[in-house]
This record gives sequence, structure tokens and C-alpha cells, in this order.
Amino acid sequence: MSLELYIDGAWAPSVGTEWIEVLDPSTEKSLTDVPAGDPADVDRAVAAARRALDGWAATAPSERAAVVTRLADELERRQEELTDLVVAEVGTPRRTARWAQVGLGILDLREAVTAARDFPWEQPLRNSVVVREPVGVVGAITPWNYPLHQITAKVGAALIAGCAVVVKASEVAPLTANLLAEAVDAVGVPAGVFNLVHGSGHVVGEALARHADVDMVSFTGSNAVGKRIIELSAATVKRVSLELGGKSAALLLPDLTDDEFARAVPHTVRACYMNGGQSCNAQTRMLVPRERLGVAEELAARAAEAYVPGDPAADTTRLGPMVTATQRDKVLGYVRTALDEGARLVTGSTEPLDGDGYFVAPTVLADVAPDATVAQEEVFGPVLSIIAFDSEEEAVAIANGTVFGIAGAVWSTDSAHAETVARRIRATQIEINGGGFNGAAPFGGFKQSGHGREGGAFGLDEFVEIKSMQFRPTS
Ligand code: NAD
Repeated sequence: MSLELYIDGAWAPSVGTEWIEVLDPSTEKSLTDVPAGDPADVDRAVAAARRALDGWAATAPSERAAVVTRLADELERRQEELTDLVVAEVGTPRRTARWAQVGLGILDLREAVTAARDFPWEQPLRNSVVVREPVGVVGAITPWNYPLHQITAKVGAALIAGCAVVVKASEVAPLTANLLAEAVDAVGVPAGVFNLVHGSGHVVGEALARHADVDMVSFTGSNAVGKRIIELSAATVKRVSLELGGKSAALLLPDLTDDEFARAVPHTVRACYMNGGQSCNAQTRMLVPRERLGVAEELAARAAEAYVPGDPAADTTRLGPMVTATQRDKVLGYVRTALDEGARLVTGSTEPLDGDGYFVAPTVLADVAPDATVAQEEVFGPVLSIIAFDSEEEAVAIANGTVFGIAGAVWSTDSAHAETVARRIRATQIEINGGGFNGAAPFGGFKQSGHGREGGAFGLDEFVEIKSMQFRPTS
């Protein structure tokens, strides 16, 4: 697999001379190096995208959708290879990586294709015709936690909308993006329509966000960097789409039977620990009626302890390492702060696990105050906080009582009542009684979890400009 940059339909060396080392988080050993791109590489990629834009935008949406279908087919053909790469560079356990990392990445493309069929590309409106046109050249800046999915969620929709893209993948897990670029090349995406520039956020990310010839930045990542992207984009009034952090709550309402409660707790642990808790939509706060605290702790501890940390390459492993030493130390720091602020360790540890790899123990905290640091800030590790409530009103207030609003869950014996409560939660994706993921449904954030949506038709909306032409009556 080429480790160079992909610009204007060809692999290209960076003009820079620096390299970024990519580590395997389960062994701490080097996997390889990727080029640390330079602003001049961004200039070349943006120029290539700009040259390709008009020709690509002039094709029919169905033609562009056919190219994206071929891309999805090619990724499907290389699914095992992609899974191996994600396991190696992120440390996601193989079984999860196969469907949640690679499967979801492919699904993003297929959902964009499906949505394109019924998308209102042109609509009559009284004496007008309303048309949806590509927004232009898109800079896509993505994180490490789902390195394929975070790119394909943007690129599938952007390409079908008729945009040309320059991707800046995370320097922590950049390799999956190279395999994607190989697939782009193999299926004959026209030169310049898809470009990939590796490098640090400060150099390549900032160059993209401030570039005068980039019309839109679609960013997924942390809140701090999201705020910086807004600043950098302001000078050229770019469109900005932000998918940021979360602090999602699962509300287990008092009417649940014992059996239902016993199902809801391990489900919440799973929704918190998915990908080692390194998911923006992780359900990190479990809100339970005060009289059920004891049983909630027991059930959560049992479920958590089944997540035995181990080699992510093994098919039976459920919990891999944190992606970097920094991430591991940040997670353990949050657990220590939680204990200092009065929380109790139900299971888990404040110390790293012995041996190689950035492993932490699956952790459950009780006696967590709704305003505690661990209940307010994104931990991004396998740390579940149990929070007690005395009334449904209080539970809703706690759920809504953070700056985030990306996801959540409501559990009730009465699903109509669960829906009533779900409607009061200020967040984008709410699971009701364990309802499954829907790739066509909107994904994104309320409040400081961002602006913009991805997924199906909602993703296409992000990448179009809406225009109208007014006609004079002919009679
Ligand atoms: P990050 O913000 O550190 O980095 C994300 C990307 O931004 C990387 O490619 C990085 O190189 C780049 N970057 C860093 N500094 C930059 C700068 N100054 N200018 C431009 N680009 C810059 O995030 P991360 O640690 O890679 O990912 C974890 C974060 O992503 C978490 O906060 C998580 O919640 C969030 N996330 C959100 C979603 C969502 O859909 N809302 C999904 C996944 C992850």
C-alpha cells in the first residue's frame, strides 16, 4: 500500500521532509511512518480539486452515485484488509472493527447512494425552479476513532452532491485513509475529485481551514479544534460543518420491570464501552432511580468485568487499548478526579494495566454528582458514571445538563412514554428501549456537539447550495 499523499489522481511525495510515526497501541511498536504534509501540499491538492470541480459537478447525480457504489463494492472486497488496518492502528477489537468500523464505513456510502435517488435535486416552486448544486471544494478533517467511517460519512455524500474533496485524515490513525485512496483510484474516480493530504492538525488542518479556495470545511473531532476551525474559516466565510464531542445519558425510568432493568444496564455498558469508550455517542452517564442504585451497580460491574482487556487482533477480545499513551493518561486522570470529587469506584482502576499497550481497566463509578467533572466532560475511555435521580423531571434535567447533545437513550416499560421523554432530550440520536442504529437517520449534535448532520439525505443536504431561478409567465 502506498504511504504517500494522493493528489490529482496520483500518489505523490510531500514537499516536506518530515514524517509522522504511526504506533500500534496494543504493542507500542511502530507500524510505519506517513509524510507530515506541508501547506504547499494543501495548495496542490486544493488546486487539483478546483480544476476537477466543474467537470464532476456537471455529471448527473445518478452517474456520481454509480461511482460511489463502485467504491463501496471495492471496499467490501477489501473488507478483511481494512479490518486488519483498523485493528492495528486504532486497537479496536477485531469483531467490533469488522462491522462498526469497516461495515459502517461502507454503509455510509450505500446510504448516500440510496438517498440520492429521491433527493430533490430540482423542484418547481410557483414561477421558480429550485436547484441543489454542489457547495464546491470541501476540506474534510477527520479524527482517529473511526478512521474509515468518519471519512466516508463525508466523502460519500460530498461526491454524490458533486463536490471535490481534500481529506486530511488523523495523524494518529492515517493508514486506513490510504487504503481508501487506493480504492478511489481503482474504481476510476476522476483525477482531482478525491485528494488525501496527511499531516498534523496545526499545519495541514489549519492550511485547509483557512484556504481561500476551499468552500467548506467538514470537521469531525474535539470541541477545542472545532472552535479553532470556526475561527480559521471566518476570514473567508466558509461553510462549516462540525461533528464534535458528547456526554450522552441513558435514562432508565422507574417503571421498568426487574427483567427489563437487568437488560437495560448491560446494554448501556455496551453502548458506553464500544470501541473502548472512544466514541462520540458513547452513553457515558447511566441515570437510574435512586432506589435501584444498588442493583444497578451490581449489574454494571458484572457487565463491565466481562470486558477483559486483551489483544484486539483476537476474535474474542471485547476491550482493546486506548489509542495513545496521552489518551490512556487522560482517561485515568478523569477517574482520579472523579474519586477526588466524591465518586466511588465500583469496578476498575486509576492505574494503567501492566505490560505493553495503552490498556486501562473497564471502569464503573457510582455516587457521581451530575455536575462532577467526569459527568460533564468527555472522557473517551471505558468509564461509566452511574447517577441517581429522584424524579423523571430531575432525570431529564440531568440528561440535558451538559454543554453536549449528540445522543442518548430512554428505557421504559411503556414505549410511548419513553418517546415522550426522548422528545425532551436535547440531543440528535436517542435510542428507545435499545432501538438499533439506522444509517439513514441524521447523526450530529445539538448545542456544543456541533452543527450539521451526516447520514443519508441529511448528509447530502450538507454539501449542496440551494438556488432558485424565477421565470416570467409565458402567456
Ligand atoms: P482532534 O480534534 O484532536 O483531531 C481531529 C482532526 O483535527 C485530526 O485530523 C487533527 O489532526 C485535526 N486538527 C487538530 N488540530 C487542528 C487545527 N488546529 N486545525 C485544523 N485541524 C486540526 O480529535 P481526535 O482526538 O482525533 O478525535 C476525538 C474527538 O472527536 C472526540 O472529541 C470525539 O467526540 C470527536 N468525535 C466526534 C464525532 C461526531 O460525529 N460528533 C465522531 C467521532 C469523534
